Amino acid sequence: MNLREHIRDIPNYPKEGIVFFDITPLLSSPKAFRFAVDQLAEKFGSRGATKIAAAEARGFIFAAPLAYTMGLPFVPMRKPGKLPYRTMSVTYDLEYGTDTLCMHVDAIERDDKVLIIDDLLATGGTVNGMIKIVEQAGASVAGLGFVIELGFLPGGQILREAGFDHTCLLN
Ligand code: 5GP
Repeated sequence: MNLREHIRDIPNYPKEGIVFFDITPLLSSPKAFRFAVDQLAEKFGSRGATKIAAAEARGFIFAAPLAYTMGLPFVPMRKPGKLPYRTMSVTYDLEYGTDTLCMHVDAIERDDKVLIIDDLLATGGTVNGMIKIVEQAGASVAGLGFVIELGFLPGGQILREAGFDHTCLLN
């Protein structure tokens, strides 16, 4: 299965000069979608993760079926104002400006080993926010998994320099 064939390149989206990697063709192919989730399950099956976390919205699409497949709890990380119970939050740097992610205060416990999943790794800003909130909860990161890595952007290198191993299905 060549997952690349199921990713559509959209030039000049969301801004002039940016090529956006559209995952909706992958989602519209049950075989490709299942393959992607099964590949992530295979790669992370032996890492001893106790929970799987992802940030809205596209991270949820892969992390939720992965949690179902691996039989692990799923932890949603969301933009401010979206979670109904008490939350903790982190603000993290993006290429231009900052963003904030929130998580329920009881979603992750100190002894948890959290597998973080996202559809795509670009500058690393989003995954850095997710790592920060896991660490703020006193837990550790069991793994970082992505469907796509944009190798020409610094996210992967930043993760390696910070001592984090990451895995992606396509780069
Ligand atoms: P980063 O924070 O690493 O710069 O960007 C990764 C985040 O932005 C991911 O959560 C991802 O959903 C979103 N993202 C950025 N660029 C793209 C893209 O070209 N395609 C998709 N599907 N998501 C993107």
